[in-house]
Amino acid sequence: MRGVSHNVDELDDTTIDEDVLQVRTVPRGLTARLRQWEIRTRPVDAESAAAAARRWAELPDHVKTDGQLIGRRSTGCEGTHGVFPACDFACKPCYHSKDANKVRVDGAHTLEQVTRQMAFLREHRGPAAFAQLIGGEVSLLAVEDHSAALEAMRAQGRSPMSMTHGDFDDDYLQRVVLRADGTRRFASVSFAAHIDSTMYGRRGSEKPNSEAELQEHRQRFTEMFARLRSAHGVRSYLAHNMTVTPENLHEVAEVIRASWRQGWRMFSFQPAAYVGSEARWRAGFRSMTDDDVWTQIELGAGRRLPYRVLQFGDTRCNRTSWGAFVADRYVPLLDEDDSADLAARDAYLRYLPGNYMTEPHISVKILRVARLLMRRPPLVLVAGGWLRRFARRAGGLRALRSGIRPVTFVMHSFMDATVVAPAWELLRRGEVATDATVLVAQERLQACTYAMAHPESGEIVPACVQHSLLDAHENRQLVELLPLPTRRSSTRAGSAPGVGS
Ligand code: SF4
Repeated sequence: MRGVSHNVDELDDTTIDEDVLQVRTVPRGLTARLRQWEIRTRPVDAESAAAAARRWAELPDHVKTDGQLIGRRSTGCEGTHGVFPACDFACKPCYHSKDANKVRVDGAHTLEQVTRQMAFLREHRGPAAFAQLIGGEVSLLAVEDHSAALEAMRAQGRSPMSMTHGDFDDDYLQRVVLRADGTRRFASVSFAAHIDSTMYGRRGSEKPNSEAELQEHRQRFTEMFARLRSAHGVRSYLAHNMTVTPENLHEVAEVIRASWRQGWRMFSFQPAAYVGSEARWRAGFRSMTDDDVWTQIELGAGRRLPYRVLQFGDTRCNRTSWGAFVADRYVPLLDEDDSADLAARDAYLRYLPGNYMTEPHISVKILRVARLLMRRPPLVLVAGGWLRRFARRAGGLRALRSGIRPVTFVMHSFMDATVVAPAWELLRRGEVATDATVLVAQERLQACTYAMAHPESGEIVPACVQHSLLDAHENRQLVELLPLPTRRSSTRAGSAPGVGS
């Protein structure tokens, strides 16, 4: 790990209260619980603020912009690795190494690794973050292992999102989310469904020829969660993931137009990169640019999408636009050409509670904001002004009454393994690249927003590094540790994990 260096410039008007560290040592009983509640609802969570400040100090200067979220209100997203590498689909490209499907899905291993990795991130990246439960295909886990993994992530303050191809049924979903007696194990869940025409193996569309062909599968997936809500009261946050290649680029806009009413809260697009299994690469991935992809996303949203007004790491890695569909119109939360919106953005980044975004309990969020507003009444005017401008852009109160669907658009552009390898090697040696392309990769790795933990080496690595450099070796070790059952042993055991090639 890098040395800890605190930069608290943006925290100067907030109070980092050392008391928060005492939360686990106060005596039990009502007084203790009130004390814990008081600490938890403070506008600024001290541990989160300190973790963010450490992350800010690590960032390269070029991403320390006015709109940067990393190092201020977030330490970035996180993901698991090596916890269930196998998948029963074949995607082109696939970011996992060619040995991934030779590793047995093993719940005990998954739980042990998820717990270790998340505990390490809890220690180094603070008490709250969004984290993906990602392999492999998460629905290959037995339901009790899937549930236990989510609980283990939550126990470390992570807000988990299960990453899936989405080809499972109500029964699987309900048994993950509900207890055997039908009561809720989770009040809300997050799933990211990767659904696109680069994937082979989906029941009903084994080899899709177009994105349009998959529209019914997108609908089917969101409907499962709608039923979960209506029958059991379990809320959900659903992200739609799509790999973009030169072949399906022209379908991006229509996927958005056809899908945004289905219940997705996020549309995330990944331009194809040369990373992972070489056997799954195709020529021409780099014949399209990030601008080409973003233009199609904007066409789908029906307007220009600002992505610098709030920035998540390096814009060469991530472009993100937060907003909502109001009636049929997409309205970004902030207008980057409106100085009043920029002032509201600055106030948000300066004053709003640390780890606000990842706090799972709405009551805690509300109390934090209420305490903040009591301390700083002028912020009520800032918030009121922003609300007025948003309503005006949306078409007024009548339009707002017709319905608001919050939707975030994301483009995450992985780098090619050939450039990640030298960039990471030089970074580990503390050297700056002289080659311009490698230097860009170094800058992006330093500003990475998608981290994976290696407790055994004490490192937190970018997902690009994981998939470009570490997965192959890791999976070779896992093949030894968790070999697939032979036909004879599976017959004896009475079951086989059934992982495809
Ligand atoms: S994983 Fe790679 S592309 Fe994604 S933010 Fe990190 S460095 Fe950038």
